[in-house]
Amino acid sequence: MIQSDVDLQPYNTLAIAARAAHFARVETLEQLQEALEFARRKHLPILPLGGGSNIVLTGDFPGLVVHLDNPGLSISKQGDCTSITAGAGENWHRLVLATVDRGLGGLENLALIPGRIGAAPIQNIGAYGVELRDTFQSLEAVHVATGEVHRFSAAECEFGYRDSVFKGRARDQYIITSVCLHLPEEWHPRTDYPALQQYFREQQVDATGLTPRGVADAVIAVRTSKLPDPGVIPNAGSFFKNPVVDRELYHELKQAYPDLVAYEVGDRWKLAAGWLIDRAGWRGRRQGAVGVHERQALVLVNPGRGNGAEVTGLAREIAADIKARYGVELEPEPRYYP
Ligand code: FAD
Ligand code: NAP
Repeated sequence: MIQSDVDLQPYNTLAIAARAAHFARVETLEQLQEALEFARRKHLPILPLGGGSNIVLTGDFPGLVVHLDNPGLSISKQGDCTSITAGAGENWHRLVLATVDRGLGGLENLALIPGRIGAAPIQNIGAYGVELRDTFQSLEAVHVATGEVHRFSAAECEFGYRDSVFKGRARDQYIITSVCLHLPEEWHPRTDYPALQQYFREQQVDATGLTPRGVADAVIAVRTSKLPDPGVIPNAGSFFKNPVVDRELYHELKQAYPDLVAYEVGDRWKLAAGWLIDRAGWRGRRQGAVGVHERQALVLVNPGRGNGAEVTGLAREIAADIKARYGVELEPEPRYYP
């Protein structure tokens, strides 16, 4: 079951060539526990891997890559909500389609996000104003150090904006094996993002007749028109999180740049990182094998199949330029390994 010296290029959507010292494709809890026991015996670091759409391989991985391949989906009515339990290896978009095709609302704004369900809680995936935590109920995970199974409630996951306990204190300490979501019967569509509004206007869709499938179709159409397909142009989606800054800095920037795109979050302001990068002149720029996507400046692309150092080098240059111009720190969203 455990292979050695495995090429990871097909397993990451940035298509970075790197090798794993050891690689285990696991379909069951027993196989997972066996793989973890192997890593413990050899004192190997672990990289839990789903679809590889939110990682940057900065070099060869000297430990054990654990590739979760346990799909499976169960959807059942429970009181006044629908309960969905999915294996970590299940494809996220397939799950979204399975719900909207049954007329179930709640996940439609998260259509077409690449990757697998096991990774969705890691950064509390979000798009168009909806996040995983809005419907999250619980998850099961295996503790890497002991092999024991733990159940995490929503509170224990400590979800934040593109964040959770699994990106902080518990990083790489648990392997998520299944996730449970609850979709309430009552549906409140969220369609206020300008891109969705524009789509509905252009398609002359009447907002009163919306269905979950209709919103998912809009999200799919908008995303397809803007975002590069990783199968065609390797990328890891948004490369930086949108920075949240204090009022003072926001007002300073708004005065200097009246067209700044920003949204109020409590007593702070979330700036659109894509706008900052675009305004700084990076959109469409190519640097060797890597570059900045021409339609969305927040997405770094790797059309020339460059290595991790080229990708992280470009990211560092962009972040330094944004800091120098606007005094704003950009934090990469994908996680770097090793
Ligand atoms: P991977 O890249 O395989 O892993 C990501 C992290 O999760 C790694 O640290 C990994 O170790 C960990 N991990 C994976 N599986 C497990 C597991 N079972 N247990 C424990 N840890 C695990 N994200 C959004 O939030 N919103 C978007 O709209 C969005 N759009 C995107 C568009 C494009 C074109 C691309 C390429 C990416 C986009 N992303 C978006 C980022 C990415 O798709 C999501 O973060 C997704 O959840 C990653 O899933 P994955 O299976 O590919 O994870
Ligand atoms: P967009 O719709 O052009 O919006 C630009 C930015 O403004 C986004 O970052 C978004 O923040 C923010 N925004 C827009 N309308 C808002 C509102 N009504 N309230 C609060 N914030 C608002 O963004 P886009 O790049 O085309 O992406 C569309 C959606 O898909 C976004 O939610 C984005 O996060 C998500 N997405 C994520 C990834 C990823 O890899 N993480 C990749 C592609 C798209 P938020 O980002 O906080 O929503």
